[in-house]
Amino acid sequence: LEAIAEVAVDLRLPSLKLYHYKVPESLNVRLGQRVLVPFGGRVVQGYVVGLPETPGVADLKYITGLVEEEPALSPAAISVARVMADHYIASVSDTVRCFAQPGTGQKDDPLITLESEPDEALRAADLLPASQRRVLEFILGAGGQCTLKELVRELGKNHLGALRALQQSGTISKSASLKQRVSEKRTRVFSAVADTERLHALRRSAPRQVQVLEILCLEGEMTAQELNARAGECRAVVRALIRKGYVRESSVRDFRTPAAPRWKSGLVPQLTPEQSEAYRVIKQADRPVLLFGVTGSGKTEVYQRAVEDTIAAGNSAIMLVPEISLTPQMVRALTSRFGKEVAVLHSMLSAGERYDEWTRAKLGRARVVVGARSAVFAQVPKLGLVVVDEEHETTYKQSCVPRYHAREVAIWRGRQEGARVVLGSATPSLESYYKATKGEYEAVFMRTRVDERPFPTVSVVDMRGDGPKLGIVGSTLRDALAETLSAGGQAILFLNRRGFSTFVLCTECGYSAKCPYCSVSLVYHKARGKLVCHYCGFERAVPDVCPNCAGRGIRLLGFGTQRAEEEVRALFPSARVLRMDVDTTGTRGSHQRILERFENREADILVGTQMVAKGLDIPGVTLVGVLSADTSLNIPDFRAAERTFCLLVQVAGRAGRGDEPGRVIIQSYNPEHYSVKAAANHDYHAFYTEELINRQTAGFPPFARMVSIVVGATSDKRAEAWSRRITELLRNKGVEVLGPVTAPVWQIRGRYRWMLLARGPLDADILAPVREIVESAERYTNAHDVTLTVDVDPLNLM
Ligand code: ADP
Ligand code: ZN
Repeated sequence: LEAIAEVAVDLRLPSLKLYHYKVPESLNVRLGQRVLVPFGGRVVQGYVVGLPETPGVADLKYITGLVEEEPALSPAAISVARVMADHYIASVSDTVRCFAQPGTGQKDDPLITLESEPDEALRAADLLPASQRRVLEFILGAGGQCTLKELVRELGKNHLGALRALQQSGTISKSASLKQRVSEKRTRVFSAVADTERLHALRRSAPRQVQVLEILCLEGEMTAQELNARAGECRAVVRALIRKGYVRESSVRDFRTPAAPRWKSGLVPQLTPEQSEAYRVIKQADRPVLLFGVTGSGKTEVYQRAVEDTIAAGNSAIMLVPEISLTPQMVRALTSRFGKEVAVLHSMLSAGERYDEWTRAKLGRARVVVGARSAVFAQVPKLGLVVVDEEHETTYKQSCVPRYHAREVAIWRGRQEGARVVLGSATPSLESYYKATKGEYEAVFMRTRVDERPFPTVSVVDMRGDGPKLGIVGSTLRDALAETLSAGGQAILFLNRRGFSTFVLCTECGYSAKCPYCSVSLVYHKARGKLVCHYCGFERAVPDVCPNCAGRGIRLLGFGTQRAEEEVRALFPSARVLRMDVDTTGTRGSHQRILERFENREADILVGTQMVAKGLDIPGVTLVGVLSADTSLNIPDFRAAERTFCLLVQVAGRAGRGDEPGRVIIQSYNPEHYSVKAAANHDYHAFYTEELINRQTAGFPPFARMVSIVVGATSDKRAEAWSRRITELLRNKGVEVLGPVTAPVWQIRGRYRWMLLARGPLDADILAPVREIVESAERYTNAHDVTLTVDVDPLNLM
């Protein structure tokens, strides 16, 4: 009986399968190792993710070799990767790759190598067909090796047949390029090898050399820079010492650290009673903890204490933040407390920096890893704690394959590796809140702000009476802006706007059109002149008369920040206005620049989208205006109320951070809406209670599981036909399906997209039938150039 290995091939394949290979007797293959395997006519890299006892299929190929002796993945990482693949209907190849060391991926550009001696190959070339000769000459000209891309660029695709022929005759071979894309950075260091006796001999003749030598004897290893700093410019002196054999030159591994580590500041505040209680609960909990703490309640300090405990026990901690660039305070807080123990991981790092930070964490040299969602995969020696700050943020969900949610991965890792998990937020997701009420998470509340700082006063303006006939800024907000400006304060005006959502609203009674089946807002489709439900496809005409109040106030709404900015400028010609939205923050660093200008008081009013809502801490801001709570309430999404509540709470948290008390004005045509009222009253409980009931009634998460499937094809007809076919297959298996409908973003890069939503109660496993159908459809869809995009627990339906 031969040993068999289950291998996750490191390629982006449309198939979800794992492949089996035979293990040659000469190789000691272990779980988690990177191996080389033959695949589709070439040799590629893969990860050993299983060593099954029973042989798989007959006729298996052999593993060709090991990439390295040491396993690249821990058994825990493999288990979690398998759970992820199962849950998200992804391939283990894709989930395993998340855990791999940055820079160890395989380039998807095979390497072509000449297998015979060059002169022999040249002689043989004369006998070959012209096209093969061209290929061979090109490879010879490139020194016997080139990549497939290089070859195609030079000779064109019509030489691929000749390439295959050469490969079959054994003249050349094709293999995956495994070139490590990131190299380790090394630094020269100097150390003394002299003894005291020889030092004496030197003393009279060369005082400079003695000085340098003495420093080196004292300090051990030093870099040239460090030496120069201590002894003055001494390169020549060191060279002389090396020549005489008094000093040895060697190189050590140097780590590129992006966040210049600051030394420990030592200032650790005394915990408030609520913080102490939270800290106690985290220490003793036997399941994930939901830390539900209002803005300014001091959650960061609680996390820091938990981190401190973790590293004191010799373990490592991972701290996840929604977006590194928006949360510089967290990195600052951690580095000032934990110094060089902190490794920062995010996508803005250079490849070299990421590689080094990752390695420091892996080696246990940095035991506090802070980063955006992918940091949840950091391989640390002993994981003791994972903190997910602002756990409700949608940036934790990855929008490409594998479409994981970092919070869920954190919980799986915690369970697998025996680590504590803390989820923190001022506005937890309904999913987490519900789990806390069920006892799956332990909840701990922090209801007051540190130092009893007051919440800002929030007033809701009823636009049904106050509404400007054409503009966006109502009279209450206009007056407040005038007051703020004349008092020398700053104001933020906030407008939630998503590109495609134009909705219908009655400006007299606040009525907005909703789908009778899905209770999500209908979206106005300009092309068809109709209101459409993006979940189930329900359509209706735009009403002339309001169905609710029979009035004539029906309007199409959906204005952007640009129009808001223009209106504000017209109202206050002497005010300095800045705008922050996707249009003004396209280039790198522009986001930061706008904020800096506002912070430096180079502007009085900042108009922006949700970007301005997060993390901003500007003491000069005394007024925050929400231009229209309705744009958020009417996004075509069952989470519209949750998003609104969350945004309003976050936005309100921006006001009154300095000594001046803050003031928040929310304009809305639906001032009675529970999410608006709860946010204005700082009554979290009211919101969650009502929202849970609504979700249960409508059958949405957290009471149901949803999977979105987007079918893409180069023809609209084909995309539609396939989406109908898959819908039918799912319904035959007893799975409820909403749709199919054209996806909200119908066409992307020449492909037409149709969408369907599978939905089922939590206790009925809908993932299994969906997986089965996706897998069985694969063979056909691939042949027909149809793509299936599966998103389990989707947060965004586009
Ligand atoms: P949250 O993340 O819950 O919104 P922060 O962690 O930002 O709140 O804390 C709010 C402010 O309170 C910060 O300026 C922080 O330095 C301060 N703070 C936190 N804990 C304490 C404490 N125990 N004593 C004094 N100040 C504290
Ligand atoms: Zn519907």
